[in-house]
Amino acid sequence: MKEQRRLIIAGNWKMHKTRSEARELAAAVVAGVKGQDSLPTVVLCPTYTALSAVEEVVRGSVVALGAQNMDYRESGAFTGEISPPMLADLNVTYVIIGHSERRQFFGETNQTVNLRLKSALKHNLTPIVCVGETIDERENNLTDAVVSRQVAAALADLEATQLATLVVAYEPVWAIGTGKVCEADEANRVAKLIRGTINNLYHKKDFADSTPILYGGSVKPSNIDEQLAMSDIDGSLVGGASLKADEFLPLIEAGRRRQALAAGPV
Ligand code: PEP
Repeated sequence: MKEQRRLIIAGNWKMHKTRSEARELAAAVVAGVKGQDSLPTVVLCPTYTALSAVEEVVRGSVVALGAQNMDYRESGAFTGEISPPMLADLNVTYVIIGHSERRQFFGETNQTVNLRLKSALKHNLTPIVCVGETIDERENNLTDAVVSRQVAAALADLEATQLATLVVAYEPVWAIGTGKVCEADEANRVAKLIRGTINNLYHKKDFADSTPILYGGSVKPSNIDEQLAMSDIDGSLVGGASLKADEFLPLIEAGRRRQALAAGPV
């Protein structure tokens, strides 16, 4: 049930922000959430170069630090790559895996998503695994087949007991950075499909009841409420609107309001 799942509002800063800009934005987010009740889990995912600077700002606050990607190996001759122990060493606790931009531009496949997911779990990093269909796939009625295949491939050879921290983000590729948001009902239908796929994989009808499933794709203050009101959407993975505090803080506030509502009167 949704009430059992804590909402997550995660900002993916992509390839934006120098260290000083990142520090400034993180400080505004930390100040904006300070002292608030019923907060969703807030995660900031800056570039690798700004992780350390942002870590100093969020340290001791409720804001968590995430990375946008990682290699699945621990060390070695892999020029340009960053390993899970390196992220853990920076107090990173979340990592985005299989973002569509990684799949589209950097050769990420369902198989490498699976390797990264296994590695993240092994190193106690909370994975946010991204899945979603392209516009061609949607127009050819392949959404369900593509998304369930991506979920099954990501989870291949993982035991149910390893998945306690799994987070999945449904991010239709055609909605990312385009201003075209997926209708909330449709996003919820796909979120349910993801939950059902996980349940089927582990042969247990309520196994994925505790798995947070986020929606991502042009989330803004004007459309987040309808997404968060859905039964199977447990937060947002936000790109563009996470780059300015005055757009990101209202998203956190929307999560806070929704979470307070779910908790009911005290
Ligand atoms: C993203 O990068 O994961 C994303 C959803 O971007 P945007 O919010 O800009 O569509």
